[in-house]
Amino acid sequence: MAILFRNVRVFSQEPAEGSSGETHVLVDGNTIRAVGDEAARLAPADAEVVEGKGDLLIPGLINAHFHSPVNHMKGMLPSLPLEIFMLYESPDFEPLRPSPREAYVRTMLAAMEMLRNGTTSVQDDAFFVPHPTPDIIDAVMQAYRDVGIRATVALDQPELAELDKLPFLAEMLPETLRAELREPPVFGRARLLECYRHLIETWHGHDGGRLSAAVSCSAPQRVSPDYMGELDALSRAHDLPFYTHMLETKLQRVLADEQPRFAGRSLVRYTADLGFLSERMNVIHAIWMDDADYDLIAEAGTSVAHNPISNLRLGSGVMPFRKLRDRGINICLGTDEAIADDAVNMWSVAKMAGLIHNIGGPDYGRWPTASEILECLFQGGAQAMRRGESLGSVEPGKLADLALVNLDSGAFTPLNDVHRQMVYCENGSSVRLTMVAGRIVFDGNRLATVDEAAIRAEAREIFSGRQGALTAARLEADRWLPYYQQMVSKAAASDIHMNRWLGYADEH
Ligand SMILES: [Zn+2]
Repeated sequence: MAILFRNVRVFSQEPAEGSSGETHVLVDGNTIRAVGDEAARLAPADAEVVEGKGDLLIPGLINAHFHSPVNHMKGMLPSLPLEIFMLYESPDFEPLRPSPREAYVRTMLAAMEMLRNGTTSVQDDAFFVPHPTPDIIDAVMQAYRDVGIRATVALDQPELAELDKLPFLAEMLPETLRAELREPPVFGRARLLECYRHLIETWHGHDGGRLSAAVSCSAPQRVSPDYMGELDALSRAHDLPFYTHMLETKLQRVLADEQPRFAGRSLVRYTADLGFLSERMNVIHAIWMDDADYDLIAEAGTSVAHNPISNLRLGSGVMPFRKLRDRGINICLGTDEAIADDAVNMWSVAKMAGLIHNIGGPDYGRWPTASEILECLFQGGAQAMRRGESLGSVEPGKLADLALVNLDSGAFTPLNDVHRQMVYCENGSSVRLTMVAGRIVFDGNRLATVDEAAIRAEAREIFSGRQGALTAARLEADRWLPYYQQMVSKAAASDIHMNRWLGYADEH
């Protein structure tokens, strides 16, 4: 099936231009076949025509870091530091085990939202409570298959006991509680690898490559080196992105000084010494890192996923954007999870990324430009997904993952500067069409692939029935709260010769 976009401006990464003049784009199958006058010439007589009316055709937005299993928990928690937040957000609690239908519906919730605002690709670092199983993996993948988004999915599951993952707790807890946290998860390495086998064999490359697998260790401190090695081998064998959160919080930096296994090394140095820092790896957050850490990441060609809204919501700190760009590190952008961003909207993420670093210092020559942010959003995301050759721009030969942006909208009227108005003005409401792999999945009014109202109604019903389990989980988490608060305070007060918080530079 061929589709001709007639009279569209085509997004250009060149800041001076921002876009082409009015022209045409021909999509054939899942690929962009031609851009320019020849697109109209080559279009077959039966091609479907989308009248562009001078609107802006852009590459689909890429959400490079996301966790779908908390899609139904928007706005559920107050702003809290990550370690306390996680107590309530993803407890290892059997009553919270979802049914396959529940996992399907919750995955749909954010996928529908993303397609509506022009996001065509998502890297889902999916964690599972209490652990992954083939039927739940299938439910998540089936939702992505049905809704029509491009999804790369990993199983983000810690393998070590809670006490190994956090500093100070062992000495703070009474013995009875300490014993509970000393137990490693019952779902160990062998079973996790079986789940990976299932994910890769069943879903990797499915639907013409629209669905794919990634691997995730969650974070280096949450797994053994052996398990990291197994994941690295899978990543290498199948060319899969390898996701790992790294130094999101100050506490994680303090941990490395506390535990002998790290021998005083940062988590980045530790991972590099194990040989796992690679161009396939996506390091998520990269906030509490020093220059030597960023040098290692640059040297390895590793991508960094920047999630500025989540980092503000959890008070984690600010990633020093310019330090990474100076080193040529590939930065991609993500929402992180719906409970820590509260929207799944890459336009808001781009705006936040475009603004937050302006208070990093007075030298405005080092503030991000709108064009840099768009480069992170499009090419940065494509490279992190291992799709640099096929996604991230509107060019012949690339996959037809596109969004058509209405320029007859408040955000773009009058049109002063395409890049700046995309980053600072647009919020997703101007998206009038979303296409993934050559298929129109959103036409400006409705999704073509799914009955959104029915899914939302079902979500309300399912999750109102889960209130009892959520309340029980919250009460369970309350038992640990005083100790976690103590731990977080102690880590915050530690002197690590580095600060990534704003406003307290003179105090810490
Ligand atoms: Zn995350």
